[in-house]
Formats: sequence, C-alpha cells, structure tokens
Amino acid sequence: MGFGNGIMRIGRVELRVLDLEKSASYYKNVIGLEEVGRSQGRVYLKAWDEYDHHSLILKQADYAGLEHFAFKVKNEAVLNELEKKIEQFGCDTSRISYGTRMAEGQAVRFVLPTGHNVELYYEIERIGTKTGTLNPHPWPLDTRGIAPHRLDHVLLTGDDLKTVTRFFMEVLGFQQSEKITTVDGEELVGSFLFTTNKAHDLAFIKGPDSKLHHVAFYVESVHDVFRAADILTMNNVPTEVTPTRHGITRGQTVYFFDPSGNRNEAFASGYITYEDFPTITWTEDKIGQGIFYHRRELVESFGKALT
Ligand code: FE
Repeated sequence: MGFGNGIMRIGRVELRVLDLEKSASYYKNVIGLEEVGRSQGRVYLKAWDEYDHHSLILKQADYAGLEHFAFKVKNEAVLNELEKKIEQFGCDTSRISYGTRMAEGQAVRFVLPTGHNVELYYEIERIGTKTGTLNPHPWPLDTRGIAPHRLDHVLLTGDDLKTVTRFFMEVLGFQQSEKITTVDGEELVGSFLFTTNKAHDLAFIKGPDSKLHHVAFYVESVHDVFRAADILTMNNVPTEVTPTRHGITRGQTVYFFDPSGNRNEAFASGYITYEDFPTITWTEDKIGQGIFYHRRELVESFGKALT
C-alpha cells in the first residue's frame, strides 16, 4: 500500500465536553479555531491551515474525554484493505455510514487494544482555507487566539503498550519514532508513532486504558509557543507547564486545560521523519528529561490529570 500504508494523518478528534457553549467559545477564541457548523449537539471546528471541513468535534456529555479520533486514508481501496487487516488482527470493526456526522462520508470504526475508539475515513467535505490555493498569502489576517496551523497529535494512556504498538506497526503500517522503556529495557512505558513524516501522529504512555492525556495543536515556532502562553494567561486558562522543550520529538511545548479538564498542548517544530528513521530510546530514569528537557522532572499532575 506504499508510504504510510495509505494513511495520511490524524484527521479529526471528537472530544466530550461538559458545557458545549463554554467549550465552543474557548476553542474559537482562545485556541483560535473556526466554527464550521453545528448539528445534533455537536460543534465542528477547523484550524486555519486545514483544507478539510473539520478536525475537531465537540460533543456535549456528562464526563470529559476522547469520544473518538480518526485517521484520513488516501482512498476507498485503502479503507477496504485496512478494514480486512484490522479484522484479521482480531479487532471487531463496524461501518459508520455517510451522514452520521456533518460533512463526513463513511468510516470504519474499531476499538484499540487500549480501549480507545478509532475510525479510518477518506471522504470529508473540502472547504479549503481563507488564503486559498492560488497565489496565497502566508496566513489570514483575521485569526483569533493561538491560531494553530492544524491538529497535530494525541497522547493516550493504556496498559498494554506492546500490543497496541504492534497493532499500529503491523496492521496500520505506522513506524515508531521513540519509545520509553524501563531501565532494563524489558517493559514499554511510552510509545511514539507516526504514519508519514511527523515526529508523532499519536503516542501512548503507560496508564489506565481508554483515557486521553492530551490533544495537541501545531504552531510554527518557539515564539508562537511563548505567545500561546501569553494568550492563556490573558484568558485565565489553567496552565500546567509553561513553555519548554521536549527531549522526545525535540518540539517546544506549553500544556493547559480546556474548560472540561481535557488537556491541550500548543506544540511547535519537532523533527521530521522518513521511512528509514530509527527508533530513539529513552530509559525510564531519564523520563523527566525526555518530556521536560529543561526541568528534568515531571510535574505531579502530568501523570494524574487524565480525561
Ligand atoms: Fe504532545
């Protein structure tokens, strides 16, 4: 199926939120996404540099967390082929039909060994960007808030990281950019996975199944991370970790929480990967440095605040 097994990128995330209006306002005015539609208790949003109809769906619910996330594949043939491979691995799949959610075509849905709901899809309405594709300006003038380029990655927690890593690599054709192991190398406690050329499209750290650690939005530079942190303070948003560098991915980061307690990240740069990228290993005794390179230790809430 070629590069990335025909899976292009993480294309959307559906988050459960406790107060739809408050959350929509936060994602529009603080994060700076554009609202593109509403339907059946859901708000649909996109980042300014994304061409597809939406990348974030907010769903009103009684508890926060990740409803599902999805990867966009190249075409229907890839979707059908991957559906078979997922079933052969032993995961049950189902089809989400056209029109279930706004602007989306059909999707294949399944549950990861870590309990998270995932979909693969190839059809979604293309609405383009304000800068367009003909002699475009580099960015639109009328952005608000942090105004990230795109949805970048999710970090999830789960118990059996070996099996979920094997699933992504063997079935979906992902590669592992980095891993965190116990000092003896026996146990996997962190796994960072990519499909085409990012440092990670998703990652897992050891923890309870089915939980979300964070959703990350991409900004261009360390300066933009700093500016994001300014905007968080201006809006009184709870910030967990002020701007710093990740050892893992080498990106720059700030962590904070949405009004429902879902952790968000503004993430900048990080290296790019190719098909021959080797897996980088961090041992657990250096996990503080791996995650917060300057501080060299985890903050207490980091492993505990999950939704
Ligand atoms: Fe991240």
